[in-house]
Amino acid sequence: MSDPGVTPVTPIAETRVQPAVLPFLSRSQPETAARWLTMLSEAMPTCRILPFAQLSAAERAAATVAIVADPDPAELLQLPALRWVQSLWAGVERLMAELPPGGPPIVRLVDPVLAQTMANAVLAWTLYLYRDMPRYRQQQDARLWRQHVLPRPQEVPVGILGLGALGRQAATALIAQGFPVAAWSRNPGTLAGGTALHGPDGLQALLRMSRITIVLLPLTAATRGLLSAPTLAQMPPGAALINFGRGPIVDTPALLTALDSGGLSHAVLDVFDQEPLPEDSPLWSHPRITVLPHISAPTDMHSAARVAAVNVMTFLSNGTIPPGVDPVRGY
Ligand code: NAP
Repeated sequence: MSDPGVTPVTPIAETRVQPAVLPFLSRSQPETAARWLTMLSEAMPTCRILPFAQLSAAERAAATVAIVADPDPAELLQLPALRWVQSLWAGVERLMAELPPGGPPIVRLVDPVLAQTMANAVLAWTLYLYRDMPRYRQQQDARLWRQHVLPRPQEVPVGILGLGALGRQAATALIAQGFPVAAWSRNPGTLAGGTALHGPDGLQALLRMSRITIVLLPLTAATRGLLSAPTLAQMPPGAALINFGRGPIVDTPALLTALDSGGLSHAVLDVFDQEPLPEDSPLWSHPRITVLPHISAPTDMHSAARVAAVNVMTFLSNGTIPPGVDPVRGY
């Protein structure tokens, strides 16, 4: 039965597909896992989707695809016939790190609804910085009535690190507001209405030109600590940072030094080295930091279940496996 108040997921019509048992592996809270099971079952009514513990030995041996949301890697290793794994999460660095090499491909969530949600968050928090909201909040605390000049969006270049599913949509939303936008990727790319940059020179150019830099990169060996003392020092005085990618991409002590010295004016952080952010973290009370509890782009379970259903039903009907995460480049 559906959760009361939850719109049922539109089922994927696929009559040619044989009924299948699909393992669902998750270390989420039981309530969350139960909601996932409901959504996935509604999206794939011809399949039986079962938590690992409810699978028989024969079902474990026969499973060729599993759907996962923060799975226990030990359980995945007990499914020997897996051809691929559908994650319901967009960032899969933890899963990649936990699984031994040579396993089945991991397909991460690529969901247009998630990209739209993230683009809205990027727009909201870019406007928060552009409209000087942290400063006006402080002025209110001091009962200070003071107006500051509002520049035109055209005078506030914004840089996005990452030009993937999320970065591209975010860039489009900012371009529509009139901000000059540059975005950086690993490979050369293009950006309609903006500037696409790549490589070390591209990173330097982006950091130097941007008043606001937004991180929308995956966490990999190459991006861990990318924003450290030398790279943060390339940002113009008073520039601001938004990290919506992963915490360890930004070197926290280096960021604190840059904020304390006034080199950077503000940082909006949604992701951290350790989550939940420990109570004794200095980030909580820093006047130049806005702490968000990893809320910039919550997964829409309806659309995520549907994206997974399309991928799984396509595989069951014709054997096509969607593109997986490249284990060497890490995303
Ligand atoms: P994606 O489609 O895989 O795009 C990743 C982008 O990063 C690509 O443009 C890629 O370059 C670029 N990139 C990767 N490594 C690079 C490197 N070493 N140097 C330069 N560019 C590099 O990923 P996505 O769907 O946009 O998601 C990005 C990340 O957002 C996820 O991995 C996840 O960590 C994070 N996320 C956060 C939240 C949240 O709530 N805060 C929600 C969802 C996702 P190429 O184009 O050249 O490949």
